[in-house]
Amino acid sequence: MRIDGSFGEGGGQILRTSLSLSVLTGQSVEIFNIRAKRKNPGLQKQHLVCVEASQKISGAKVSGASLNSNFLRFEPKDIRPGKYEFDIGTAGSTTLVAQTILLPLAYSHRPSEISIIGGTHNPLAPPFHYFNEVFLKILEALNLKIKANLEKWGFFPKGGGKIRLFIKPSEIKTKNFLERGELKEISGLSAVSNLPLSIALRQKESLIKKIKQYNLPLNGNPEIEIKIEEAKTFSPGTFLFLKLIFENNLIAGFSSLGKIGKTAEKVAEEVAEELKEYWFSKKVLHYYLADQIILYLALSKKPFAFTTSKITNHLLTHIWLLQKFLNLKISVNLEKKEVSLK
Ligand code: AMP
Repeated sequence: MRIDGSFGEGGGQILRTSLSLSVLTGQSVEIFNIRAKRKNPGLQKQHLVCVEASQKISGAKVSGASLNSNFLRFEPKDIRPGKYEFDIGTAGSTTLVAQTILLPLAYSHRPSEISIIGGTHNPLAPPFHYFNEVFLKILEALNLKIKANLEKWGFFPKGGGKIRLFIKPSEIKTKNFLERGELKEISGLSAVSNLPLSIALRQKESLIKKIKQYNLPLNGNPEIEIKIEEAKTFSPGTFLFLKLIFENNLIAGFSSLGKIGKTAEKVAEEVAEELKEYWFSKKVLHYYLADQIILYLALSKKPFAFTTSKITNHLLTHIWLLQKFLNLKISVNLEKKEVSLK
């Protein structure tokens, strides 16, 4: 199968999902124009580790896997669950590498234990807390049995963080996400590393103040629990994370990272704005989650439907890729923001 990496979003997701589906289905792939729409196109360190990890778990024959390469040929043999460690060597995202190999390993016949070293809280990627408390929790609702530990935090630029995954084989049960249900909990985390703890407190206070202005209906109990954590890392950084837990196993998560020159209040404002946009959209899946779980929802080829706060280019690109691999027709209703397989 030939895949144009410049299609739609034209980013790393095309590569990662192609690798997942190639290992899972045994279908060989050639990807060209890799990450053509990114500032630094071609395979970067994190993507090379995605290729390496996919190669190791499938015994694949690979060509084109070098830095900045915009072409890759990948011919998998079989799925090889087991114990592996992958080191990105930069602050590249450990969770994106995890998402690349998680699906085929979850579908195999034996458990796996995977360690990944690199960045754990990166911009433009799921931060570990989002990955663990939102993404994996939703996969659990789809019957997948995956646990993750954060062994060490890793911020840009040094990385050096470590996550460990425990994957048990199981079969996905698809599910509809058409109603949020009642909001049960609002909780989160405000963390700093190698910086004064007062920054974490300011992030927390500022976020709570902003959320209170939105008056979310929470059974008359507007308690917002945000833990404070001082993380040990090689690079200074701050992180703010908030999740909403609804009945029906639905979770929505929002996060932001600090950086030099960005105030704690600005970090809080970004999280609050994300929350507000999601809340008032009245749709069910937050748009990041939608693009990350559609793969799992569609895989069984059984009917599913969800609404999402935004139909993003990432989501549409994912749908295009899934249709190519799985030979199915997913419908997108742009007005209702609903995606379904009938
Ligand atoms: P790409 O831009 O193609 O490398 O894909 C980035 C992936 O990271 C997408 O699946 C996004 O949904 C996900 N992502 C980016 N930022 C966040 C965030 N703050 N929280 C959760 N997921 C994110």
